[in-house]
Amino acid sequence: MIKLYLLLGGNLGNKQQVFAEARTRLEEQVGIISAQSAIYETEPWGFESEDLFWNQALELKTTLSPEGVLKQTQLIELELGRIRKEKQYDSRIIDIDILFFGDQIIKTANLTVPHPRIQERKFALVPLYEIAADFIHPIFRKSLRELLDECPDQLKVRPIDIS
Ligand code: ADP
Ligand code: MG
Repeated sequence: MIKLYLLLGGNLGNKQQVFAEARTRLEEQVGIISAQSAIYETEPWGFESEDLFWNQALELKTTLSPEGVLKQTQLIELELGRIRKEKQYDSRIIDIDILFFGDQIIKTANLTVPHPRIQERKFALVPLYEIAADFIHPIFRKSLRELLDECPDQLKVRPIDIS
């Protein structure tokens, strides 16, 4: 079993339903969710949009390879996209990024782990910090606490109550 961290993101459709469905499918297709952050409402990073994002960090235990996880997460992105397709053409409503895969460092044509932009993005760092404050980034050799302290990103990231 290896511990991995994923980040869910989306800014379209019924986010509560989509995120719940993504977690259910991840547990069926990747492994048990051993920790999950709150859901955060976050300002779009790198572009302007009225639609705020939701982000949530998840910790899972898996027996799959990194490529196996990517295959499943991409399948889930597609499946959830299809569910909404009648109503929402051509918008991707869920993004599932692999942030860490144990302390492995991977660089292949379709997979870079740790995700190369974690340290620049509060929308990834803040939810991750909530569930893995002391986890050490295997390239920078810094904890999430340190990476968050050093991150210059000013965009708003706030936990929301969806109960
Ligand atoms: P983004 O997440 O940057 O908005 P996509 O979700 O469309 O964009 O992903 C683009 C490509 O990024 C995917 O086809 C995938 O092969 C690649 N990729 C590389 N590293 C990762 C990672 N750590 N997690 C998820 N996808 C990754
Ligand atoms: Mg992605």
